[in-house]
Amino acid sequence: MRNKKIAIIGAGIAGLTLAHQLQQRHTVTVFEKARGVGGRMSTRLQEPYLFDHGALFFTARHKKFKAFLAPLLEQGVVAVWQPRAITLEQNKKPYKRPWFEPHYVATPQMNSLCKHLSNGLALEANTQIAPLTQRTEQGWALEDTQGNTLGVFDWVISTAPAPQNLQLLPQTFSDYPALKTIVMTGCYTLMLAFADPLPFSWDVAKVKNSPLQWIIKNNSKPLRDKALQTLVVHSTADWAEAHIDEDIPAMQAVLLKELDAVLGYPCAATATMITTHRWRYADVAVRSPKKFFLDATQQLASCGDGLIGGRVEAAFMSATLLGEELQRHF
Ligand SMILES: Cc1cc2nc3c(=O)[nH]c(=O)nc-3n(C[C@H](O)[C@H](O)[C@H](O)COP(=O)(O)OP(=O)(O)OC[C@H]3O[C@@H](n4cnc5c(N)ncnc54)[C@H](O)[C@@H]3O)c2cc1C
Repeated sequence: MRNKKIAIIGAGIAGLTLAHQLQQRHTVTVFEKARGVGGRMSTRLQEPYLFDHGALFFTARHKKFKAFLAPLLEQGVVAVWQPRAITLEQNKKPYKRPWFEPHYVATPQMNSLCKHLSNGLALEANTQIAPLTQRTEQGWALEDTQGNTLGVFDWVISTAPAPQNLQLLPQTFSDYPALKTIVMTGCYTLMLAFADPLPFSWDVAKVKNSPLQWIIKNNSKPLRDKALQTLVVHSTADWAEAHIDEDIPAMQAVLLKELDAVLGYPCAATATMITTHRWRYADVAVRSPKKFFLDATQQLASCGDGLIGGRVEAAFMSATLLGEELQRHF
């Protein structure tokens, strides 16, 4: 098997999982447009507070993902989180929410898992790959959006969310029509910090019949600084989609009002810090029947959560299965 020069676009869990698999025998470079790794498993630092403002937690059902997590649990990169969970609805009595299967978080923050995976990899951060045009005989000549040349690669594999892949990959990509069928939905995420302890006897609240979907006491997760009181609040996908292009401060005001009403507590007035992030592509509403996309003729591929379903485990599985298939093509 000849050593291949491979470019992976995206340093989220899918890109980094695949890079690990392929780098044993090939020369792999991971390109990431953000400053750091993590993608939708990232953590927002707002000194002195940390907010896991993407994935809240993750579950593990497939034996391959469980096997991947086992050493990480031993090393303390990942921990089981057993929060006190409730269901909340305005004007209704809250009730305890069962937490049937283990839920995991990276420690001490959600992006720690991707940071750990990126150790030893060739990573080019702050590098947004420009749309690919045509493969030459030598391979794919990559450029960033500033016009800098980044080298020629035998294979290019994108892990960008499907709607971004439509801009990035050429229309000649064999799975381009399938890529178009993936539908992703957005999310607004509120982040709040408080000077005084919050008077709630729960760590996670699932909210019903509201623009809010989840309220998380972020500092209740394992190995977080318990003294730094933080809430992370996610909107529902439906509400986010209905307001996806609206002004973020206006949306923050609506969500804060709802938060105060649902909790019966003046969060907006007592928080010492409030900020909001809009995710355009948080979850997958319609996924692809395929688990990854692979165009062996053009030596172009794509994987990520959009193919199996919007979860951390799905992104890991899509990358793992693509990596196994690629070994057969090299
Ligand atoms: C608000 C929210 C809540 C969530 N809650 C949960 C949950 O509770 N449990 C769960 O399991 N999952 C949850 N998820 C989903 C989970 O985070 C994702 O399924 C998973 O992280 C996707 O990983 P990925 O590697 O496929 O994609 P990503 O993490 O999106 O990685 C893709 C990377 O590609 C980069 N990129 C894109 N275009 C370019 C380009 N042109 N050049 C260079 N880099 C590029 C992006 O910056 C990004 O870092 C949540 C997600 C969000 C946003």
